Amino acid sequence: MTEAEIIKQIVDQFGKDRSRLMDIVRTAHAKLGYLSEETIGRIHSALGIHRVEVRDMVSFYAFFSRKPEGKTVIRLCNAVVERMKGADEIAKAFEEAVGCKFGQTSADGAISLKYTACIGMSDQAPAALVNGVPLTNLRPEDVPKVVAAIRSGKGPESLKQAEVDNNLLQPGPVIFAPSERGEALRAAVNRTPEEVITEINKARLRGRGGAGFPTAMKWDFCRKAKADEHFVICNADEGEPGTFKDRVILTSQADLVFEGMTVAGYAVGAKQGFLYLRAEYEYLLPHLENVLAKRRRLGLLGKDLCGREGVDFEIRIQLGAGAYVCGEESALIESLEGKRGAPRDRPPFPVQKGYRNQPTSVNNVETLCCAARILEKGADWFSKIGTKDSTGTKLLSVSGDCKHPGVFEVEYGVTVEKILEAVGAEDAQAVQMGGPSGQCLAPKDFGRSISFEDLPTGGSVMIFGPQRDLLECMYQFTEFFAEESCGWCVPCRVGTTLLLKKMDKILEDRGTRGDLEQLQSIANTVKTMSRCGLGQTAANPILSTLQNFSSLYEERLKPDDFIPAFDLSKALEEACAITGRKPELEEKHV
Ligand code: SF4
Repeated sequence: MTEAEIIKQIVDQFGKDRSRLMDIVRTAHAKLGYLSEETIGRIHSALGIHRVEVRDMVSFYAFFSRKPEGKTVIRLCNAVVERMKGADEIAKAFEEAVGCKFGQTSADGAISLKYTACIGMSDQAPAALVNGVPLTNLRPEDVPKVVAAIRSGKGPESLKQAEVDNNLLQPGPVIFAPSERGEALRAAVNRTPEEVITEINKARLRGRGGAGFPTAMKWDFCRKAKADEHFVICNADEGEPGTFKDRVILTSQADLVFEGMTVAGYAVGAKQGFLYLRAEYEYLLPHLENVLAKRRRLGLLGKDLCGREGVDFEIRIQLGAGAYVCGEESALIESLEGKRGAPRDRPPFPVQKGYRNQPTSVNNVETLCCAARILEKGADWFSKIGTKDSTGTKLLSVSGDCKHPGVFEVEYGVTVEKILEAVGAEDAQAVQMGGPSGQCLAPKDFGRSISFEDLPTGGSVMIFGPQRDLLECMYQFTEFFAEESCGWCVPCRVGTTLLLKKMDKILEDRGTRGDLEQLQSIANTVKTMSRCGLGQTAANPILSTLQNFSSLYEERLKPDDFIPAFDLSKALEEACAITGRKPELEEKHV
């Protein structure tokens, strides 16, 4: 089959639907190995859209390549926790075994080595994705075996490292307690949609992504927005470094997630739901599709749910392609519509104009599980767990310098100290609560409680032991944001790069008090002037360490009487060598 025929077949497979561009591009990439300018041209002609729209999409996502790659692509996670656990040594071992550097393809064209951001395996780091298959707990001595298995054609699935452990170390009463499939949905359809929303309101359920918006209010706004169609989206794009709880929920409680989506669909008046699954979790897709198929067979998905005529709901899983910003709900919607994941201006909010400009409720995986459990067991039961303003439980993904990394379901109100005890990390120097976009806590904060009224968190808990260079970790977090910025607005796009330059200078012991003041000022600008949540939180690692660990910055500064100088002769050396001219200035210029 020629490439033109392949593209035509793929475009036809997705009904020539422009909004399925993500799937079209993903399928073409999987078939052809990369997306050349000719391929982009063929897709744009077949879909009848502008070439720029396809190029825009292809160039935005980390998992698409525009030049030929190896048949096997190894993506090694180089997030902060992974580096703490030895990812740099693993990288060296891969370079030796494959015979090329990261960012390159082996001479025989068989294997490409790439770095990638957090793949949701920080509890079993270092980890990598090999053509989408996760390999965990890697040790340098494993690497030659991994490469040999790939070269022999066996594939990574045959390796013992291709095992993903749930590491569910503390199941709680809400998410991981046993539940009966369909019970929540039956309880929902026996009420009116308004009564379902009232029950969720009575339970005082708040969104688990970190912001804590009341779920009942979101559903109510969505339901009341006048439109032809309504939609529900489950945001399973957990890209916050250090978080992996959705991976565990989707592995062991997928039914509960789909049940929550179906309840949400009934409440807001939606007949279609989408689960937006991050590309890093593609390996979960067959399992999730199986669960959906089973629900269809049992009458819990599709038409006339639970035997109630006219109560219809269907779910489609949409895979992403590697972009942290798509965790932001409006960026996720753009991505779901087959575009680059650029956040939208708000208002209008998704509950007014979301997917295809129709009212859309976007909810977190954990929130939807809670909603299902509330319908199943009642608002009174749920609201007795946790605190007054933070009812229920919270899932924490704990990683870093601790004896027991894994997932913990805790009641809201638990202190950081208690968590550190439970995971064996009593000597922690700092805790990054809520991932890089959260805050870096000092021991003086360890008595604080995880709750919306004190320490709200999306669930990532990274622990830094006394041996860590905390500022180096903050630098790596900032690097992550600079890399993931969609580039739309200047404070985020330029500000994160300026922050890196200042941090670089301070980390190299070349910083002055003036640099520190500028660092603070730039960080404030990035936080207050950026357009979306990514930029508004990108400076948090720096701002919270400036506040809680100021001495770490102070001790790296040049003395106050130091006068910054610029060595012009040295700076001109290279230019003089090229031009053959002699530097005319031999003095150091201040
Ligand atoms: Fe894009 Fe950053 Fe601006 Fe958000 S803040 S729109 S990610 S550039």
